Amino acid sequence: MLLNPLYYTEQHLAFAESVRRFTEKEITPFINEWDEAETFPRELYKKAADIGLLGVGFDENYGGIAGTDAFYTLLASVELAKCASGGLAASLLSHTIGTPPIQHFAQEEVKAEVLPKILSGEKISALAITEPSGGSDVAALKTKAVRDGDDYIVSGEKTFITSGIRADYYSVAVRTDPDAKGANGISMLLIDAHSEGITKSKLDKMGWWASDTAHLHFDKVRVPAKNLLGAENMGFFVIMNNFNMERFFLAASSYGYALVCYEEALDWAKQRQTFGKRLVDHQVVRHKLVDMATRLTSTRALLEDTAYRLGKPELQGNELIAQICMLKNVATQTMQFCADAAVQTLGGMGFMRGMKSERIYREVKVNMIGGGAEEIMKDLASRQLGY
Ligand SMILES: Cc1cc2nc3c(=O)[nH]c(=O)nc-3n(C[C@H](O)[C@H](O)[C@H](O)COP(=O)(O)OP(=O)(O)OC[C@H]3O[C@@H](n4cnc5c(N)ncnc54)[C@H](O)[C@@H]3O)c2cc1C
Repeated sequence: MLLNPLYYTEQHLAFAESVRRFTEKEITPFINEWDEAETFPRELYKKAADIGLLGVGFDENYGGIAGTDAFYTLLASVELAKCASGGLAASLLSHTIGTPPIQHFAQEEVKAEVLPKILSGEKISALAITEPSGGSDVAALKTKAVRDGDDYIVSGEKTFITSGIRADYYSVAVRTDPDAKGANGISMLLIDAHSEGITKSKLDKMGWWASDTAHLHFDKVRVPAKNLLGAENMGFFVIMNNFNMERFFLAASSYGYALVCYEEALDWAKQRQTFGKRLVDHQVVRHKLVDMATRLTSTRALLEDTAYRLGKPELQGNELIAQICMLKNVATQTMQFCADAAVQTLGGMGFMRGMKSERIYREVKVNMIGGGAEEIMKDLASRQLGY
């Protein structure tokens, strides 16, 4: 797919090239084995940090890369998607959802202690919002934190947490005011994942096998009060602020996986012969491929437009939040369409483990549900547009 040259600098393209080489050399040759083993080596975090992948969007004073705008996120997502494992990308980059609340809302002392370790790949960060009683209705969360001297005592449960087993730090949404209703009375806390009182259990999934996804139980976990992220009882704002880039990342990745499916199907259609000619010489198959390309092209245009707007302070606001919601839905529908069309075009081979489209097909639904499900995106967009 052609990138719109208006948006990219030489630095953008050089960065994309280094992520492409990293993915080709350090991930793709091993990904089938890692996916089946439901893990990948921890040393990959350090290798990703070495090429600047973990520093995108973070402050250079703490190990981030200066001047990395949303186009870097877009390019990184698309290049990493070429390994065709959303699970790997979700865990390797779980800091992109776990760490922004630390960068934007932690005390200076906490930032200086924690951020360089995460951005260098030494430590792993995760975000823990969702609870067994519900993820869409964030304001209904029940995990509680009670102040006790210089600490909070945290009790409750979180579920479906990406990097939940391996993480060293959790950014956790808790209720600090039991009497406040809904979004009021929620706070964010940075919790050392090795603290006494935390138990973790692995969850088995339809896809994202290379990612560790966990259920967490907090039993009277003592957390220093200095680990509060943002003001007490103002955590809902921190959570909502974090969702925009998470959804942009999910949209960019979904586009990347859709592109992988398209390329695998096109390649197959050019080689496979049926009824005396190549698959691509049958009009029905050609049309299917063009339908995929059409959706990819329009999704890419919306992604680039959104990346551009994210970089302009004067374009921030309710309409941009609505656009991100719509983008997430468009991109994940493109992924769903292309995964389905690719598996169909590959025929029986599309059902075989080891084919990129087979794995991506199993990973479609998590992109449509995680980080805000399709219906929730529509509701939020309608509110932002003032319906
Ligand atoms: C593999 C995986 C990894 C994840 N990683 C993380 C993570 O790292 N951190 C984290 O905090 N969470 C994580 N999640 C959780 C994810 O964000 C939630 O699953 C998601 O927000 C949906 O919440 P839920 O599963 O509780 O569904 P529910 O909220 O129970 O919703 C179920 C369905 O009902 C629909 N629905 C709900 N309310 C309405 C309504 N008002 N109108 C119409 N439809 C509605 C939803 O759209 C959804 O389709 C992960 C999930 C998965 C599967």
